[in-house]
Amino acid sequence: MHYVEATKDFKPGTRVHGLIDAARRRDHMQQHSGQHVLSAAFVRLFNMPTVSFHMGDDYCSIDLDTPTITNEQVEQAERFANEIILENRPVDVRYVRRDEAGKLGLRKLPPADRDELRLIDIRDFDLTACGGTHVRQTGQIGCILLRKTERVRQGWRVEFVAGQRAVATARSDFTTLTEAAALFSAHIYDVPLHVRKSLDEIRSLRKLREQSLEELAAAQAAMMLAETPEIKGRKLIVRTFADRDLNYIKLLAQKLTRISSNAVALLATTSPQPSLVFAESAGLPFDMGALLKETMAKLGGRGGGSKDMAQGGAPTGDGLDAALQEAAQKLSSDLEKTA
Ligand SMILES: [Zn+2]
Repeated sequence: MHYVEATKDFKPGTRVHGLIDAARRRDHMQQHSGQHVLSAAFVRLFNMPTVSFHMGDDYCSIDLDTPTITNEQVEQAERFANEIILENRPVDVRYVRRDEAGKLGLRKLPPADRDELRLIDIRDFDLTACGGTHVRQTGQIGCILLRKTERVRQGWRVEFVAGQRAVATARSDFTTLTEAAALFSAHIYDVPLHVRKSLDEIRSLRKLREQSLEELAAAQAAMMLAETPEIKGRKLIVRTFADRDLNYIKLLAQKLTRISSNAVALLATTSPQPSLVFAESAGLPFDMGALLKETMAKLGGRGGGSKDMAQGGAPTGDGLDAALQEAAQKLSSDLEKTA
């Protein structure tokens, strides 16, 4: 049965000329027949019946009714299925009455809705009822390549490709692997080793970077504190950076307000992300959260925090320094008053 777009001169009895897309048909024959072989292989080896079959545009899958499956089982089934393909067994189509079919030991008996059944008989290997298109001999399947396995509701799904699809898939895997190997100037089989090594390296470099930033922030904080004069026993540090990220100026603010017990730090960075951090040593009477909110309102950004530490992001770096100076002015006059 074929579904077609309706046209007005297409009536019952109209003769039509149909053409089979040979490449597509052969592909479907390979996938479909491959599935018969594979499903039978899983039954014969591990008694795992196939409960459903899916044929997609790039890969096919069968769902196996089994609680577990190992990689070794997948490889064994793949090897067995390919042996059957290599043996080039005949694939016969025959028709039997339903009551006869019951005695033939079919792998799968379809639900009873017709008297005659179409059987696909892979010689001495698999007998099952099917209405699909199949190869004449198993050798025409070419080969079967099993790929991903994943847990599904009713068991395990095994993805596979057969025939030219298997070759195309292997080709695309090889291309991907070759590209990855070239990045490491390595052999393709050494790619996992190099990836693991690189990830380890990234992890330790990240750690080293964090340590270095801590040390840098501590040293910079000590320097900034040393060159900042006290106003009535307190130090007000105001600085805008052009190339430090929010994390770093936060770290710096922490160091400044911990090394000194009387410091207020108003820090900003214009890139990569325009941000502000206000902080004071524990116990000082100012409200950083409120001051930051006030400043952010002028900049059109958002932010907040506690009494001792607050941070925010501005939409652009424009006016950041001016806003910081304004906050510093306000704070200076408060400093004078509270001292
Ligand atoms: Zn079939």
